[in-house]
Amino acid sequence: MFQKILIANRGEIALRIQRACRELGIPTVAVHSTADADAMHVRLADESVCIGPPSPRESYLNIPAIMSAATITGADAIHPGYGFLSENAGFAETVEAHGLTFIGPSPAHIRMMGDKIAAKTAMMSLGVPLVPGSDGEVSDLDEAARVAAEIGYPVLIKAAAGGGGRGMKVAANAESLEEAWRVARAESRAAFGNDAVYIEKYLDKPRHIELQIMADNHGNVVHFGERDCSLQRRHQKLLEEAGSPAITAEARDALGKTATDALSKLGYRNAGTLEFLYQDGAFCFIEMNTRLQVEHPVTEMVCGVDLVREQIRIAAGQELGYTQKDVTFSGHAIECRITAEDSETFIPTPGQVTAYHAPGGLGVRIDSALYAGYKVPPYYDSMVAKLIVHAKTRPEAIARLRRALSEFAIIGIKTTIPLHQRIIEDPAFQAGDYTIHWLEKFVASK
Ligand code: ADP
Repeated sequence: MFQKILIANRGEIALRIQRACRELGIPTVAVHSTADADAMHVRLADESVCIGPPSPRESYLNIPAIMSAATITGADAIHPGYGFLSENAGFAETVEAHGLTFIGPSPAHIRMMGDKIAAKTAMMSLGVPLVPGSDGEVSDLDEAARVAAEIGYPVLIKAAAGGGGRGMKVAANAESLEEAWRVARAESRAAFGNDAVYIEKYLDKPRHIELQIMADNHGNVVHFGERDCSLQRRHQKLLEEAGSPAITAEARDALGKTATDALSKLGYRNAGTLEFLYQDGAFCFIEMNTRLQVEHPVTEMVCGVDLVREQIRIAAGQELGYTQKDVTFSGHAIECRITAEDSETFIPTPGQVTAYHAPGGLGVRIDSALYAGYKVPPYYDSMVAKLIVHAKTRPEAIARLRRALSEFAIIGIKTTIPLHQRIIEDPAFQAGDYTIHWLEKFVASK
């Protein structure tokens, strides 16, 4: 097992990883920017190192500074969390070149899945169904028009290097194709320095269903069921559930078998998530995330597993020690991502939290780095807390969520708690009857 783990992240996920390390008896090193000197992940770490100024480029994305911090503290492994360097294959390679362990998949798999065209090609060859679309990259507008006519409008132009919903544009018909083509490429070039795009059929009523996978270095692969992440605004997830209100146990088993077979053939290791769109009874793969995800707690609650602990154990070379039939699902879990934003305009609201009270009680979990007096800095992602509830049934989970949201007091800054309160009172949400397009309309109608 590792002697010391450096956590190359901040906020709630840095705390989340520290907690797993502490339970495993492994000391941790926190890294932080000058803006985060008073952050909770620094206060609770065994050791901490300042790695640069507030700008993420100069601190949390600064590979030489992070490697120096690991070297001077004698860390022998690095956990990247999510975001920042977590899907940077070059970083994983650098960590390994220094003789440290990167807690995650191999650099080759990170690189493959980071290129969405390569990811789709690989998945197709492994028997995973895809969204109908172009056969790889589409290089010019004529080809785009040909592909779009073939699969039928509306179509979605997507960036090969995509992430966070950027470089993605819908063309409703042949007339709007050129405009969508131009904007998607320009956005992609600006965001990723790469304007390669591909085309997919734009699905009108899909759910976003993703499957949590864990693979060890000894050929064992299991899945921990699905998460329904259909509630999105601007392609960003806001509220997630495990399991999905739309998926039967049989459908989960079938999808799980397809996915675990594919990853086993690929020789994948550590945690990963396969994302699918689900419409008219069919699952279509859209991408794979080669890291721990924000919404992993809902899976932990229904499976009773500590996914970060599993990541660490696997990276240290241990075997999973269980098989698919040992993975069981109990009850229902829902997570609300609470951001420091106005709940109607979504304008960010960094600033000082003057008072803080987190809900508690049976089946309530808070993953947050907030505390009274903490000043939410303006430089980073606006998510400040995740509220996760777990109960025997979905209606009980909603009742628990209603109760927990009403107890949650984050005073001094505006948050999206009121938005979550509105969502869970909506009859369509309560019936579990929503698609990826639902929330956008819900927000616009208020
Ligand atoms: P990113 O990596 O930028 O997050 P994804 O491919 O994961 O991009 O897609 C993000 C979201 O965009 C999906 O969860 C879904 O809501 C929407 N989306 C992606 N592909 C399609 C599609 N073919 N049809 C309709 N919506 C889509």
